[in-house]
Order: sequence, then C-alpha cells, then structure tokens
Amino acid sequence: MQIALLFKCQWGEKGLPKQSMASANSFFDDIRSHAEVIDPPESEDVMDIGESVSDPTQNSVKPNVGVSSSVRELLECPVCLNAMYPPIHQCSNGHTLCSGCKPRVHNRCPTCRHELGNIRCLALEKIAASLELPCKYQSFGCIGIYPYYSKLKHESQCPFRPYNCPYAGSECTVIGDIPYLVAHLKDDHKVDMHNGSTFNHRYVKSNPHEVENATWMLTVFSCFGQYFCLHFEAFQLGMAPVYIAFLRFMGDDNEAKNYSYSLEVGGNGRKMIWQGVPRSIRDSHRKVRDSFDGLIIQRNMALFFSGGDRKELKLRVTGRIWKEQ
Ligand SMILES: [Zn+2]
Ligand SMILES: [Zn+2]
Ligand SMILES: [Zn+2]
Ligand SMILES: [Zn+2]
Repeated sequence: MQIALLFKCQWGEKGLPKQSMASANSFFDDIRSHAEVIDPPESEDVMDIGESVSDPTQNSVKPNVGVSSSVRELLECPVCLNAMYPPIHQCSNGHTLCSGCKPRVHNRCPTCRHELGNIRCLALEKIAASLELPCKYQSFGCIGIYPYYSKLKHESQCPFRPYNCPYAGSECTVIGDIPYLVAHLKDDHKVDMHNGSTFNHRYVKSNPHEVENATWMLTVFSCFGQYFCLHFEAFQLGMAPVYIAFLRFMGDDNEAKNYSYSLEVGGNGRKMIWQGVPRSIRDSHRKVRDSFDGLIIQRNMALFFSGGDRKELKLRVTGRIWKEQ
C-alpha cells in the first residue's frame, strides 16, 4: 500500500509575510551605504538570478486520494493537526489524541469532553506501522518512500529539505531551496550580489564606538556555480567589542567542505589573514559566529587598521574562494 499524505505545505510559499526588513536595514544604513566592491570581476556575465528561481510550490504532491485521505484523517491529531506517533491516546469513546497534546487538555477529551484517562490506541499505532509514505519534501525532489515511523527521522536529515533564510539580524522565517533563497535575499533583503571568487570589500562606520551587538552585513557571492554568504559583523566577545567576518556555503555541509576561502584585513603596515572552510547555511549564522569560525578582529586592532584618529572604522577586507581538488 502506497499512500501519499501528510503533506502540509508550510514552506516556500510566496505569500509568507515579508519581515520588517526596512527597519532592520535602516539601522545599519551608515555601514551599508559605504560598502563597496572595489574591483568588480571584469568580464563575467551578470546572472539574472530571478530567471533561475524555481517555485517549489508549483509541482506539489498529488496525493493518492481515497484510502489515503481517510487514513490521514485518522492519524491526524484533532488538536494540533500533526501526524500522531506512539503512544497515541484515546478517550473511552474512542477519540484519539497525540501524546504531545495529551498533557495540555487537562484530562478532558477535546472532542467529547469526557474524562480522558490513560487508554492507548494500539490498533491505530499498528495501522500506522503498516504504512509507507513519501517523504514530505517530495515536491522539492526527494523520491524516498518510508515506513511511517522512520519517515520523521529521514525528513529531519533529508537532503531536499528546505533551508532557512541565511539573512541574519531579522527574524525572517522564509524557507526554500537555494535558488528561491537567492532570489529572496536579493529582492526582499536587498542583499548585494556579486559574481566571482575574489572580493575586496570596504566596511566604513563613522562612529566605531557604537558597537552594537547586532551590527552586521551580508553579501552574496556567486562562483563555481554555487552561492556563498559573506558575513561581517560587530559583536561583543565577553567585554571586548570585536568584528568577525566569515563565509557560509548555500548548500549542504558535505559540499561546503569542497571549498576553502581566505580573508585578509590590514593597514598601517599590519595584516591579519584567515583561511577557513565555509560552513553550510544549515548551521545558523549565530552558531558559526559563536564558534568564532572566522576572521576575528579586535576593535583596537580594527581601529589601528583604519589608520585614522579612532573616529572612523575603515576596514578593507579582501578575500578569495577556491575549490579544493
Ligand atoms: Zn496533538
Ligand atoms: Zn472523546
Ligand atoms: Zn526526503
Ligand atoms: Zn529572509
């Protein structure tokens, strides 16, 4: 029996709310407006990223209706509407409830209001065990079919599962595949997009003493047919204000490992060089930052590099991405 069901499309929808990006951006306008790429790569074609966007909602699953929809209803918790997994509970009248919701209904069946007790619905658990279902990321390209009880585990690791928006500093909830997120970064977050594997970025801030926890920037680089996120941010490391720059790969970790990158910052006859491996955007921006997996510049050193009178931060970060053989 093959049954396609339990596909709740909660991701990649075009209608997801646009976050308050305007306010997030304006906070950093003083940095953003000065950022520039000094040596744009010469002859590369500008890629129209909008063209390559695939809409993951377009080829959605056509569930095999009939048996499937009635079984789906049976296995759907009436309270939270999620798929139920053992132990599945029922009241003395036979209404079912998931184990997550049970402690929250104060021992009253949410359907008939009778006392709930502690009755387990073994028959339904066994029916579920006999089911084989497609991965819920089928519309993203996964062709796997899994027994009901191992489906969740697969889905938590499915290589086709959508990515979270890599834009930091906002509570953006948009998820999707890489082409979708690239278009989203460009259109909704107004992120700078650059082609090429080398970059030369300048970060200027008029008052470096206002180191806010969340002062950050994102630039997206396209090279080797992939996309990379260059993050630059100021944050507080213990008591010390520091800057960090690091690269994330828009794809999975096993692919990220095929690339390396270097970052260099200096001035006034001093220079710091960082070489690293880009982290997958499966790792959150915060996780990478808090593991210090990048070029970390103490603020005092940053002001030294800026060369001036400590009134302005002027950092020139150059870098390169390459593919390991
Ligand atoms: Zn529930
Ligand atoms: Zn009941
Ligand atoms: Zn899958
Ligand atoms: Zn976003």
